[in-house]
Amino acid sequence: MAGKMPREIAPGVFWIGDCLAQRHKGKIYHGYNAAYLIAGETASCLVETGHPKDFPVIERHLGELFARGVPPLKYLFVTHQETPHCGGLGRVLKTFPDTLLCGDVSDYHLAFPQYEHRMRWMYEGDEIDLGGRSLMAVEPVIRDLRTTWWALETRERVLFPGDGFAYSHYHEDGHCGLLAEEATSLDLPDVSSTFADLALFWTKFADMNAYCDRLDFLIERHGVKTLAPTHGLPITDVKATVPKVQAGLKAAALMPESGTNEKTRLTGAGAAPTAA
Ligand SMILES: [Zn+2]
Ligand SMILES: [Zn+2]
Repeated sequence: MAGKMPREIAPGVFWIGDCLAQRHKGKIYHGYNAAYLIAGETASCLVETGHPKDFPVIERHLGELFARGVPPLKYLFVTHQETPHCGGLGRVLKTFPDTLLCGDVSDYHLAFPQYEHRMRWMYEGDEIDLGGRSLMAVEPVIRDLRTTWWALETRERVLFPGDGFAYSHYHEDGHCGLLAEEATSLDLPDVSSTFADLALFWTKFADMNAYCDRLDFLIERHGVKTLAPTHGLPITDVKATVPKVQAGLKAAALMPESGTNEKTRLTGAGAAPTAA
């Protein structure tokens, strides 16, 4: 699967990283803890860092992109402070000493005081200029933490929704490295409801119709053409695919919570996606 990466999902926007195997109800699901590189004319920005185990893969993918002439890494944007999103943060800042960390930077200085001077706050509407395109902080509709921000690439209209549009894929069906629209045997409502059930617990207690309406509003407001989620496969046909993911969110909200027993029975690494 890593052979398909880096994969350019929109001009100058590259999908990198690796899958993580998860067991659920006797099946092996694959999830992504993806990262994305946006190449501007003068600077590149990495969105998310992948899971700590993925850093060697992500570093190799970045190396391949820089060897192809992508501008140097000047910015790292992470959607929130959870391991699959920012677990490689220290290693990225160490490996790329000119890189600034951007977003909601609460608490990172506690883990990495040596990099505090390289941390920059962003609020809604703030933009990072990459030359010819920028990355803007936008409303995080599906927010896993209080500190979550989403981001929009302004030229190609690529939305980076963090834990939004989170769903696993079927390794056995060869879905690894495919776009959502290419994974034709993937039951999107089912995998998105499974992910919400296991990893986005709060969706049980919220009116997901309101969240789905807000997602539609955000997509419309920013003219989003591509979705680049951290855990799901990238979406390039917004009109056709987004409603399928939303159907899963709405279905999961109506199901009783099922994660706990499964986690107890299946012990060991990767038994369930604990951190979304
Ligand atoms: Zn996979
Ligand atoms: Zn997550």
